[in-house]
Amino acid sequence: MKTDILGVRFDDLAPDEMVRTAASLIQAGGFHYAVTPNPEFILAAENNPAFREALNQADLSMPDGIGVVYASKILGRPLPHRVPGIDFASALMDWMAKEGLRLYLLGAKPGVAQKAGENLEKAHPGLVVCGTHDGYFQDNEAVAEEIRQSAADVALVCLGAPKQELWMAQYGPSTGVRFMAGLGGALDVFAG
Ligand code: UDP
Repeated sequence: MKTDILGVRFDDLAPDEMVRTAASLIQAGGFHYAVTPNPEFILAAENNPAFREALNQADLSMPDGIGVVYASKILGRPLPHRVPGIDFASALMDWMAKEGLRLYLLGAKPGVAQKAGENLEKAHPGLVVCGTHDGYFQDNEAVAEEIRQSAADVALVCLGAPKQELWMAQYGPSTGVRFMAGLGGALDVFAG
């Protein structure tokens, strides 16, 4: 079920259900993407229709942060669960590792995604990080083509908001991946 908080939709799912839903979307094939809106996203989306649309067309939307959960309670449409994007990604990568799936990391300053990839392969034995690219590029089509060439199943897109949501909505389908998640500063965290 989707819950609307000031014009932005959220999935009313517990963290483990969020991961299971992502896993079924990946198994189903086709292109899907997930967003992790916090209160700043909701405010920004109010004045940015393209951003709002990219958020609301996502297949999965998780309340990333306690602020959204509080707002949902005040508005009388309570979302009982907070689903931090980093925790979601970690649980998804555990599942991907078991399945032997391929992950692409897009975003952050040069060198960060590569370091994050090395750490993630160690933390999730069996996970294949099949490519990385920093988040400061001009040629969107060339990056989408690089992802396609990597034969990734899943990509983490960490370009900050609203850039990552607009990028996933516009270029995601041409990359051939089955699932993308927009995760802000996650690569900086994973790089340690
Ligand atoms: N970033 C990027 N390309 C850009 C702008 C930002 O790759 O054009 C990266 C930045 O290096 C950082 C992440 O996006 O790793 C954004 O992190 P931040 O915590 O500021 O974003 P938020 O999660 O608050 O949206």
